[in-house]
Amino acid sequence: MKCTVCRGPAVIDLRRHNSNFCVDHFLRFCRDQVRRTIDEFEMFAPTDRVLVAVSGGKDSLAIWDLLMELGYSVDGLYVGLGIGEYSDASGEHARRFASSRGATLIEVDLPGTYGYDIPTGARAARRAPCSACGLTKRHLFDAAAIDGGYDVLVTGHNLDDEAAVLFGNTIKWHTEYLARQAPVLPARAGFPRKVKPLVRLSEREMAAYCVLSRIDYIVDECPMAAGNRHLGYKEVLNDLEARSPGAKADFYFNFLRSAAGHFNAEDADSSGALRECERCGAPSSGEVCAFCRLVERAGGSQPVTLSPTRSSSPSRNGASS
Ligand code: SF4
Ligand code: ZN
Ligand code: ZN
Repeated sequence: MKCTVCRGPAVIDLRRHNSNFCVDHFLRFCRDQVRRTIDEFEMFAPTDRVLVAVSGGKDSLAIWDLLMELGYSVDGLYVGLGIGEYSDASGEHARRFASSRGATLIEVDLPGTYGYDIPTGARAARRAPCSACGLTKRHLFDAAAIDGGYDVLVTGHNLDDEAAVLFGNTIKWHTEYLARQAPVLPARAGFPRKVKPLVRLSEREMAAYCVLSRIDYIVDECPMAAGNRHLGYKEVLNDLEARSPGAKADFYFNFLRSAAGHFNAEDADSSGALRECERCGAPSSGEVCAFCRLVERAGGSQPVTLSPTRSSSPSRNGASS
């Protein structure tokens, strides 16, 4: 197998691009895809202050690395979710990466600061773990970006993530979610600008990027992810991709091009009806925001002990780990 660009030995084949790449040209391909995505969707400018949400997994560490390689000023944000050994190990990976690159990592310890971990919060609030986790992360990411004066919040959602969420939202025709399924969500009162620069790159490509860039990421899945509906959607789409390379990218990018505009953004943007949470000041539809209600319900409840076989349901918006 030869590199399509230089004819040297290739290390990866990308069937949807009908290409093979050597190490150097694959890393360059990843940088080019991210640069193209940032430019095409006008995600941010070279002078903007960027905050990337990192989990210690391949996608978030890869996008942090790629953005620094492209010359952006990027700090990391890690939220310790208190999910047993998984959280201990994922925090270590995030810290090690930050120190290896001389980068700034902001840390928020959920149990230490807010008095609950995800398994306990989910049970107390009678939510699926990924739903409690998604709510928690959205609140803490938004707050960190706003309080830190960042211009934009980056998440490591890749093509597989976005295609799976789109698939789930489409088979259920969740039009309010479809209206918000874009790689850029503009800033609005109390919310930072949010962008997903990895949407042109797949999960497999991000794993390869990390291995070839010697990024030591956490390989283990979150123990709460078992049974997650989005994992099933990913399997269906992987079967389709194997039969028809490029199907995932067609599904997602043709949606953005041809269909996304038909869903009413006003359905998705309820900021007009929002007020400030009386406890934390975050945007809220009621007097107290959903995050503060979760903190209240989880506080003082009996901690949940994780078992290795535990399974969970997903959040509706496919909160990424
Ligand atoms: Fe949170 Fe992801 Fe784990 Fe679900 S799978 S609990 S969203 S870290
Ligand atoms: Zn090459
Ligand atoms: Zn609040």
